[in-house]
Amino acid sequence: MDITKIFGSNVFNIKTMKEVLPKDTYKALMQTLTRGTPLKIEVADVVANAMKDWAIEKGATHYTHWFQPLTGSTAEKHDSFISPTEEGWVIMEFSGKQLIQGEPDASSFPSGGLRATFEARGYTAWDCTSPAFLKEDSAGNVTLCIPTAFYSYNGHALDKKTPLLRSMTALSKQALRVLKALGNTTSTKVTSTVGPEQEYFLVDKSYFSRRLDLLLCGRTIFGAPPPKGQELEDHYFGAIKDRVSMFMKDLDVELWKMGISSKTKHNEVAPGQFEMAPIFNTTNIAADHNQLVMETMQKVALRHDLVCLLYEKPFQGVNGSGKHNNWSLGTDDGMNLLEPGHTPHENLVFLVFLSALIQAVDTHAVALRASIANSGNDHRLGANEAPPAIVSIFLGDELTHIMDRISRDEAVDLKGKTFMTLGVDTMPDLPKDNTDRNRTSPFAFTGNKFEFRMVGSSSSISWPNTVLNTIAAEALDQIATRLESAEDATSEVARIVKDVVRKHGRIIFNGDNYSQDWVKEAAGRGLPNITSTVEALQCWHRADIAEIFERHGVLDREELESRYEIFLEQYAKQINVEAMTALDMVNTLYIPSVLEFVRTLAEAAAHLKSIGASFAVQKPLLEKVSGLLQSATGKLEKLEAETYKALSVEHACEKAEAYRDQVFPVLQELREDIDALETMVPRALWPVPTYADLLFRI
Ligand code: ADP
Ligand code: MG
Repeated sequence: MDITKIFGSNVFNIKTMKEVLPKDTYKALMQTLTRGTPLKIEVADVVANAMKDWAIEKGATHYTHWFQPLTGSTAEKHDSFISPTEEGWVIMEFSGKQLIQGEPDASSFPSGGLRATFEARGYTAWDCTSPAFLKEDSAGNVTLCIPTAFYSYNGHALDKKTPLLRSMTALSKQALRVLKALGNTTSTKVTSTVGPEQEYFLVDKSYFSRRLDLLLCGRTIFGAPPPKGQELEDHYFGAIKDRVSMFMKDLDVELWKMGISSKTKHNEVAPGQFEMAPIFNTTNIAADHNQLVMETMQKVALRHDLVCLLYEKPFQGVNGSGKHNNWSLGTDDGMNLLEPGHTPHENLVFLVFLSALIQAVDTHAVALRASIANSGNDHRLGANEAPPAIVSIFLGDELTHIMDRISRDEAVDLKGKTFMTLGVDTMPDLPKDNTDRNRTSPFAFTGNKFEFRMVGSSSSISWPNTVLNTIAAEALDQIATRLESAEDATSEVARIVKDVVRKHGRIIFNGDNYSQDWVKEAAGRGLPNITSTVEALQCWHRADIAEIFERHGVLDREELESRYEIFLEQYAKQINVEAMTALDMVNTLYIPSVLEFVRTLAEAAAHLKSIGASFAVQKPLLEKVSGLLQSATGKLEKLEAETYKALSVEHACEKAEAYRDQVFPVLQELREDIDALETMVPRALWPVPTYADLLFRI
């Protein structure tokens, strides 16, 4: 396989554009791409035509404006290129206007009150900063996909892309102010970059299809712990099984074709869990790509009779899945602003940007926490290997030392590179890193980027990055103002570091984030520990947060408020589906199976009694099973009552609270009985595949 031939073959990328576009058009488009110069319709016409010819040559019959509504997934409506002629024939057409703007009948997407159904017009607008690509399906369809933003009749953002793009602009503006104040005259643009590592589970399709909970909720609502879980730590980085490897190979090829730089693949900690990491890109392209990654994983898995689970916590008792969001800032002239270099303490740019991030994360820890809140992550944060719900920053010993010394006006003494001797003659001495890794931190500095590890595996990365960019822009704005009015920028940097350490040093924690001691210590430091989605989401209702989003032009009050409503609704709906699924499974699967077992036991006991034999085994077992069944039935009734009560609550926040406080706990209690029954009822009678089947039989 020649990757260089496959890679990007389905992307209308710069290389292709250079080949197929007239020189002037190419130049004009590049101006738009790099400098944001508005695109003229005549230019768009030429681009559209070339794009269409290229797509048709590759087998495309349709095009779609591909967008990301607030559901968190992607949306597409396919239009063929055909256009009728007077002779009753058709020609293939695609105009600049069709490329630039679309108007899908999009009234059924969540708008959180931004749009009443009677004024349901929604528009899509071409985002030329993310390249158009071709999507192929197993039916042989090839569709030209044009990444677009989605907005309402009065210009409100109805999607995840628009605020992300706006946040990138805001961040660039503030970052450039800081760079300029520090004497940089060459950079003209700063771009936030992201490399999202995607974790997922694979299960066998035949088992999956018999689990209504997995099918409808993405997670198992029931399931007794298997005799073996992840305790032997034998899955992590283990040899990849052939069946999984075949899936991964197919996945790689599909992703490479779409220009997605799938780079790393490996077995993850939990049995049946895996990871794929791409090479980083701009946050906008990375977010688009990550949506495609999730979609392609699910599609390709089915070809191998596997099902890919993206939910944050599909199985209780083993690790959940996250999306490590590796984030940094790069300039258009090739600088990584979070690159410390060999002498970080003399690197003013680095020190300032690091300080800005520390300030941003401490000041807006609640917003970061809220940016990743969903019902799936509620199971994950704090459980097993996942980061706790407390936001803190890992800096590592060396940088902590540097920040500390500068803040106390003391000289920095760097140890310099030391070497490790492995004690094996044939192996060279290896340079020792200045700091160890910390796998438990939710926001870890990892060399030249921050790794935000709280993001859930199923969610779009757009929103967390929008929030991260916005709070970074806010901190940089304040720092830029200081630098601009300072007489001497260098000494002002030292003062900034000092102030940041004094005011925001509490956010830095290099220890074990999973320990109970940290939870106590964090509380002592006054760091918020927000353990539920509903509580976290209150952030989007706060006036001070709305003010920041508005000031940086990311979202106005209405747009932010609509997201608050939508996120709350999504939470309530998800728990409602889980409760309804539980009712269905218990009523139609578990109870009948257990009753069958009860009947067998009762008949056996009666028969034994009639012949005067002992039924000492049957009777206690019968009583135990019946007792559990009775308990389960009681909880089932309670679950049903609470669910209908919650469903009828009007107010979005009270409704979500009702699901969290009244419905969810009963669901968990019900699970205890069902899981206990699973360990007693004969396997042959148990109506659904077990955890062992789901986790180990692939
Ligand atoms: P690990 O965290 O497992 O050590 P790496 O450090 O190689 O793995 O990278 C993890 C992810 O971070 C990859 O997707 C990589 O492309 C991304 N990454 C590396 N540099 C940057 C950067 N400057 N900005 C954003 N992401 C980056
Ligand atoms: Mg990593």
